Amino acid sequence: MGMNIAIDGPAGAGKSTIARKVAEKLSFLYVDTGAMYRAIAVYFLRNGLDPAKEEDVKQVCEKADISIAYKEKEQRIYLNQEDITGLLRTEETGKMASLSSAHPLVREKLLETQRELARKNSVVMDGRDIGTKVLPEAEVKIYLTASVHTRALRRYQELKEKGIDCQLSEIEKDIEDRDYRDMNRPVSPLRQAEDAVLVDSSEMTIPQVLDKILEICKEKVG
Ligand code: C5P
Repeated sequence: MGMNIAIDGPAGAGKSTIARKVAEKLSFLYVDTGAMYRAIAVYFLRNGLDPAKEEDVKQVCEKADISIAYKEKEQRIYLNQEDITGLLRTEETGKMASLSSAHPLVREKLLETQRELARKNSVVMDGRDIGTKVLPEAEVKIYLTASVHTRALRRYQELKEKGIDCQLSEIEKDIEDRDYRDMNRPVSPLRQAEDAVLVDSSEMTIPQVLDKILEICKEKVG
């Protein structure tokens, strides 16, 4: 039997960085569910479809086949057999993912893939509804967050390092909007599961957060 670790939290809290490291430490599979929602978003964007239109959503759910493979332990995401992993981390896809993921049909489509990965492997899975909906039986649940300002600042520095011109105030606004959408949608809103441990990384370094989470895992499962 495998063991599962769920890490949920808002955009920019450092979930993917931390989840990847935890998985590496424990030799678990890292599953980035945001990437699956982003892959669906790529289909919407490429085909000029509108997540507010029911028929567009249905079309996407029928025609977009999302699959996952692991190459050298890195998760690769395929949209109708095309590896689109490199196209997922743009602001545009993030925003579209946040809009389209609010739709129950989109969530249902991805739920079974996510559960199956967790059934077959020991996973560290990160997202918004892993502890509350996807893996309610996960042995360890973490709610990883940080202040809006800290999260915006991290994103700002990341973009600057890539040479992308951006404004801190705009990033803050985007993060606030995304939090609002993710926390207030009727299906699977982002919230801390009752049995999740809250970790606020605002004043913590990456190694500190990693240590903290590994400590929580040890406490929970020995
Ligand atoms: O984590 P990431 O920024 O890649 O997620 C993109 C968007 O996908 C989020 O803003 C959220 O709306 C959606 N998402 C979700 N449920 C998940 C993971 C991501 O609704 N488990």
